[in-house]
Amino acid sequence: MIKGKTAVVTGSTSGIGLAIARAYAREGANVVINGFGDPAAIEAARAGIEAEFGVKARYSGADMAKGDAVVAMIREAEATFGSVDILVNNAGIQYVAPVEDFPADKWEAIIAINLSSAFYAIHAALPGMKARKWGRIINTASAHALVASPYKSAYVAAKHGIAGLTKSVALEAATFGVTVNAICPGYVWTPLVEKQIPDTMGARGLTREQVINDVLLAAQPTKQFVTVDEVAAFAIFLSGDMAKNITGAILPIDGGWTAA
Ligand code: NAD
Repeated sequence: MIKGKTAVVTGSTSGIGLAIARAYAREGANVVINGFGDPAAIEAARAGIEAEFGVKARYSGADMAKGDAVVAMIREAEATFGSVDILVNNAGIQYVAPVEDFPADKWEAIIAINLSSAFYAIHAALPGMKARKWGRIINTASAHALVASPYKSAYVAAKHGIAGLTKSVALEAATFGVTVNAICPGYVWTPLVEKQIPDTMGARGLTREQVINDVLLAAQPTKQFVTVDEVAAFAIFLSGDMAKNITGAILPIDGGWTAA
């Protein structure tokens, strides 16, 4: 099902996205990785995927804050590999501040990267999927697509927006063999989580240990961080034939967070 297909994973130079891209490559898909970071580390990740899994891996440095760059990335992937069969909208950033202090440029950036980029990528990739009568669109949302936390107004708004986009496009694509779902992780131990610890310490006046135990894992009944490999395995399942009737679903993988 996945072997020989092409998967574009946005924001895949680190964290969840890199684990997802590697998982698709392990299943035999050619992959396009995307994101920012140290060029040598990105090239090592790209070349590592090719060497380890025997597939082709391309890197796109497209800025997910810019709609025309998102569309160009999809067109380039189609030109290189002939199709984009699997699209994982995963790029995301976070900023933590009370809403009255929230910088407008951070609001705009989060909405652009965490929400609008998914629109542009779907807008560009869906016609090909519909024409070929097969496709998988997976949006990395968040538990914050279902519930809120204070001081994350832009992130929560963007992730709730992603849930709406997921449902709407799923209905449009339903008879074309294209499924559209949102994976909603709880706290996954990645650089994104690590980076927000100092901001949360500042916003709430807490120590690092208090943020980890009393803020982050306080929400997660299992008291464990989700792993990037667990999220990647979920994406692989959703891309298989047994998941062809799962569409328009907003799917938590959050240690029970949103059950509370
Ligand atoms: P990360 O910081 O490790 O990875 C983010 C990726 O997005 C990186 O590759 C980065 O280069 C890329 N990126 C950022 N801005 C970009 C831009 N303008 N253009 C292109 N790429 C850009 O973070 P992560 O935790 O792996 O997050 C990935 C996704 O998972 C995000 O959408 C995030 O909201 C979501 N998520 C994360 C957690 C968590 O606990 N880590 C929980 C729920 C949801």
